[in-house]
Amino acid sequence: MAQIIDGKKISQQIKDELREQVAELKANGKEIGMAVIQVGSDPASSVYVGNKKKACAYIGIRSESYELPEETTEEELLALIERLNKDERIHGILVQLPVPAHIHEKKVIEAISPKKDVDGFHPQSVGALSIGQKGFVSCTPAGIIQLLKRSGVEIEGKECVVIGRSNIVGKPMAMLLLRENGTVTVTHSKTKNLKEVCKRADILIAAVGRPKMIDASYVKEGAVVIDVGIHRNENNKLCGDVDFDSVEPIASAITPVPGGVGPMTIAMLMHNCVESAVMFDE
Ligand code: NAD
Repeated sequence: MAQIIDGKKISQQIKDELREQVAELKANGKEIGMAVIQVGSDPASSVYVGNKKKACAYIGIRSESYELPEETTEEELLALIERLNKDERIHGILVQLPVPAHIHEKKVIEAISPKKDVDGFHPQSVGALSIGQKGFVSCTPAGIIQLLKRSGVEIEGKECVVIGRSNIVGKPMAMLLLRENGTVTVTHSKTKNLKEVCKRADILIAAVGRPKMIDASYVKEGAVVIDVGIHRNENNKLCGDVDFDSVEPIASAITPVPGGVGPMTIAMLMHNCVESAVMFDE
């Protein structure tokens, strides 16, 4: 039977540590501010934004909320970001994606100062990660490293296979595992013999975006399996990219969905926001 890696518990630990750190910073006269921008009123985005604001309140980060109408122009959004870039009371700027189709996502990401890029999506942040310089790291993969470390999973020297090469999960995940001295293979939709490659993994990270695709036939006995996927199944229940019931009996450790990787993303966003008040402050 596999160890169940409890993302809810670990994310709570991280939030409690951050809360203490923020209280200490406050005692030394430093208050952390985060701007949360949403354009339009997509219901899923509103839920994510609400959760982020709640997490800020719990940790003691002052959040400023900008709920902009759907018809906001790109120029207006970029002007707001520019103003927030210059605002010393704001340490992190978060634009909830996706933005409406008439606004170029790339321009928005690149407009945010790398010093306030708490999502870690700016090309400078991505570049810094790949050459080991200071910068923000994409929250979901950063959260997975925390899940592994805090569950006692050693990464150094291990065969790590990442399924998926997206800019926000797969690629930064691979860079982070490399930074931890894992031996890393990145697989994707054009990979040949995917099952055989996955079966080499001591640590298998599934970020493929396909419900329950990864069953026991992809997994080596004793592997650690991390499931990044979030889907709703035919009964409207949440499930991941991993077929949990099939994989759990042969894995040594596994994340559930929900309650695995999901809660870590916001915890790491909060971590980045606290970091932003100290990382470039010297
Ligand atoms: P994406 O669609 O951008 O990328 C999926 C990747 O999987 C692509 O690189 C593609 O090449 C690869 N792929 C697709 N089909 C494949 C196949 N048959 N074989 C091998 N590789 C294949 O997705 P993403 O943004 O990286 O997200 C992946 C999953 O993680 C989604 O389910 C998403 O909802 C979830 N997600 C969860 C969190 C979280 O906080 N838990 C955060 C981001 C994404």
